[in-house]
Amino acid sequence: MVVYDLVRRYLKYKGYKLKHVMNITDVDDKTIRDSQKEGKSLKEFTEFYTEAFLNDLKTLNIEIAEIMPKATEEIDGMVELIEILLDKGIAYKTDSGDIYFSISKFKDYGKLALLDADNLKQNADARLDSSDEYEKDDVRDFALWKAYDEADGDVFWDTSLGKGRPGWHIECSVMSSKYLGQPFDIHIGGVDLIFPHHTNEIAQSEAAYEKKFCNYWLHNDHLLVNGEKMSKSLGNFYTLKDLLDKGYDAKAIRYELLSTHYRSKLDFREDNLKKIPDTLQKFYDFLDKLDSVNGEGHDVSKLVDRAKKDFEKAMDDDFNISGGLAAVFDLMNAVNKVMDKLSSKDAKAVKKAMEGFDSVLGVMEHEKLEIDSSIQALVNKREEARAAKDFKTADSIRDELKEKGIILEDTPNGVRWKKA
Ligand SMILES: [Zn+2]
Repeated sequence: MVVYDLVRRYLKYKGYKLKHVMNITDVDDKTIRDSQKEGKSLKEFTEFYTEAFLNDLKTLNIEIAEIMPKATEEIDGMVELIEILLDKGIAYKTDSGDIYFSISKFKDYGKLALLDADNLKQNADARLDSSDEYEKDDVRDFALWKAYDEADGDVFWDTSLGKGRPGWHIECSVMSSKYLGQPFDIHIGGVDLIFPHHTNEIAQSEAAYEKKFCNYWLHNDHLLVNGEKMSKSLGNFYTLKDLLDKGYDAKAIRYELLSTHYRSKLDFREDNLKKIPDTLQKFYDFLDKLDSVNGEGHDVSKLVDRAKKDFEKAMDDDFNISGGLAAVFDLMNAVNKVMDKLSSKDAKAVKKAMEGFDSVLGVMEHEKLEIDSSIQALVNKREEARAAKDFKTADSIRDELKEKGIILEDTPNGVRWKKA
């Protein structure tokens, strides 16, 4: 999600008009199965997770897409697309009412994943699991429509295709093209979705409308934790809430997720996360210093222009974020050297550039603190008391600060404070 946010923010930075669609696939085998397990209706179940998901996006300062269609509200479009494929003889209905896409009828099948017929067969064999397989013309064919089965409970739609529900792939084909047209510009997703999901999206949409589905595919690589695949059984599975509960800052988590190139594997380590608040503090200190300069004046226009040019050159190159961040740090280092000389007008120019960069990075917003020295002395005294395990004194200092409107937070990076 942070990857798409970087892409959309950078497109806006460059002045593109943006229309971003993020579909909510709120009906599929797993949502039906798990909603039944919890004894909830599908709607109740998916709405809970959709809301939790949107809250997490907000916490990570991820912008929300302009349009967020839900699969369950777009069934008509899916039926329409499947009808077209049936009419063209590219899809077929089995005796039990399932409808499949016939891969042999779409000659470009597998072009995205660079698959040929042999490894497609192998992939399909490896995934042979459900009892309906024997009904297919070809083992590689995939479901567009699933006829109603008692296991679906009350989840079904009565349509011209019969009573049933859409397959997962068709949901995405329909929701993207409906709001963006075909072809649309960019499709983003995880590298694990290239086959079969994105491959099948292309097949359905291009076979039906005989034009390109989308112009560019951006696939982000896997997220690892401590060098290993994230999984519940390995005990290295974190939710955002787990990390926040441990005291990590949402902006630090965002920065960690953001600062690895999207096509590289991101190796998430708590040790790295602990270092990030120091980096963020550098941004905050720098921006706060710019607010209080009082020098004679110093021409910073060259430094600012250079930074913007370097930032864009890196980001234009397939979102090279390390290059982009390097340009920002270079500017900060260069300006820090002449900070004493800057007039408020110079500072304003630097600040404007930083705001531009942060419209993409989304990590620099912070609460400005004017802690006077007496408060700092109290914070230090409390730290000393804590180090000496004198918790009574430490607690009384905490209360004293609280009365002054200062809240202390003990984080993995030591104590931080904010105004109440
Ligand atoms: Zn999809």
